[in-house]
Amino acid sequence: MRRYDYDYGWKPYVPVAERRRQAAREAAKLTKKGRTVSPVVIKGSKIANTFWGKAWCDNLERYSDYSNRLPRGRTYVRNGSVVDLQVSPGAVTARVSGSSLYRVEVKVTAVPKAHWNAVCTDCAGAIDSVVELLEGRFSKAVMTRLCQEKTGLFPRPAEIKFKCSCPDWASMCKHVAAVLYGIGARLDERPELLFALRNVDQRDLIASAGKGMAKKRKGPAAAKVLESSNLSEIFGIDIAESPAKPGRRRRNPPK
Ligand SMILES: [Zn+2]
Repeated sequence: MRRYDYDYGWKPYVPVAERRRQAAREAAKLTKKGRTVSPVVIKGSKIANTFWGKAWCDNLERYSDYSNRLPRGRTYVRNGSVVDLQVSPGAVTARVSGSSLYRVEVKVTAVPKAHWNAVCTDCAGAIDSVVELLEGRFSKAVMTRLCQEKTGLFPRPAEIKFKCSCPDWASMCKHVAAVLYGIGARLDERPELLFALRNVDQRDLIASAGKGMAKKRKGPAAAKVLESSNLSEIFGIDIAESPAKPGRRRRNPPK
């Protein structure tokens, strides 16, 4: 059956430059209405460049449910058609400029508790800090665990619900596909939004050490702590001995 394309129909193809101008006009209109717009801007040849952005896009592309629909979204997001994209816990709302301005909503379910606990247990002791986590600086083992299909951090199709104000959204229109890629681009800039979107606290991945993946190298904390005796040498000052607080243990007990 031939499908009517609501965006192009029998109208002439709108060149990329014109689409960009149109998107800029739509963004300006939204700003005028008092909305803080956050457009998706793709600068290089790739939609995403960091671990988080790439892992988000790779996750989408591994599901056959999406494979026919996603390519149209790639072109759209690259054209600057996603004029606004906002991520909040469990939901993404966006405006996409097509033949008119469409409103897209993507809902993503929270990571189930047991499933999140398993991720944390498996990664325990292997990630040093939230900064390193968000910068994607961790071992390949952690990377693999976080990206695990179905049991990692990234949602599978059953955990993603979407709708668009265009008439063609039910089977994933290009506006929804563009927004799904737009989320990947946004995670490049603000990876913490993935944790917000999936309703989990990224600090849970750092806190618990012990079980799970063994830490390969020594954490920086111990090396960075200066002993008080060293301080007085470094700064050439006398540091008064303060009475030890009850129960407080010395960081480096004498051997
Ligand atoms: Zn649509």
